[in-house]
Amino acid sequence: AAAHPAPLEARAAAIAAGDRRALARAITLVESTRPDHRAEAEALIERVLPHAGNSIRIGLSGVPGVGKSTFIEAFGLMLIRQGHRVAVLAVDPSSRRTGGSILGDKTRMTELARAEAAFIRPSPSGGTLGGVARRTRESIVLCEAAGFDVILVETVGVGQSETAVADMVDLFCLLLLPSAGDELQGIKKGIVELAELLLVNKADGELEAKARVAVGDYRAALRLLRPLSPLWQPEVLAVSAVTGQGLDAAWAAIERHEAAFEAAGEKARRRAAQAQAALWADLGDGMIEALRRRPAIAGRIPEIEAAVAAGTMTAMAGARRLLALFLGE
Ligand code: GDP
Repeated sequence: AAAHPAPLEARAAAIAAGDRRALARAITLVESTRPDHRAEAEALIERVLPHAGNSIRIGLSGVPGVGKSTFIEAFGLMLIRQGHRVAVLAVDPSSRRTGGSILGDKTRMTELARAEAAFIRPSPSGGTLGGVARRTRESIVLCEAAGFDVILVETVGVGQSETAVADMVDLFCLLLLPSAGDELQGIKKGIVELAELLLVNKADGELEAKARVAVGDYRAALRLLRPLSPLWQPEVLAVSAVTGQGLDAAWAAIERHEAAFEAAGEKARRRAAQAQAALWADLGDGMIEALRRRPAIAGRIPEIEAAVAAGTMTAMAGARRLLALFLGE
């Protein structure tokens, strides 16, 4: 997107060499909706694809205030000390309402943001959840190509975005408050079901005992759920993002999960299934965009939408009508 963009080959090489500015510019390109940028982004991704894939992709969610940014900062710094390179991306479809982004904000993770071995990128603003998810999937590939071997994808606990994130990571991790009773009611059961690692945060000081009780409660509750994979029974651990207590145990659990899935070929299978699902999601989005751009159809959309809203036409009939116009039937 620069005024004098370097040739594609040079930009791909810079990304593969771990150049964070080249990576940031590539993600900006990926986030652009301009058709020429889109074509350029796709060409760039194709170039770096052979360098991508070598990472652990971890989804991270939890209600506002649970300690996500505090956790990511402490956890990321711990991983960097161990020699990892950590990228933090965010999926926040709600940011389009405020026009800004509330997640993945560098001001929330100041020390990690300064670290050479870290890369933090806020959520792309604007667009549908599907659009944000696509751009995030492409950003994951770019981060991997730049040598980041731990990819953290953060999202806020609002429901649909968790499912989107769970569909692009190897392991989905849920941060919980040390008050299990309220939490079990506050968090939709479907989201707990996506998690293969549950971390009860703030297990420090006065809250520590409460956190231990919450861990027991969650373990009991999870025994009633069917695990996502026969290879892995979800784990519940107490952590403190502030003291750092339990962060090493959380990473050890992630490594055990990784080892079990890798050994069984399940990591590759999961990623393949995710890629296929993404293909159909992107195709659907692309077709809807193409349909909306067709002038003859764009003019008809308001009246069909209004009829469906008023109940004088069923949604199914409206969709059929638009599809028929698109196909020229
Ligand atoms: P987010 O909204 O999920 O990103 O939560 P934040 O990371 O901003 O944390 C919300 C509040 O909880 C802040 O005041 C943090 O200092 C506090 N907090 C985060 N982690 C811990 C923890 O492990 N222990 C305690 N006692 N407080 C924490």
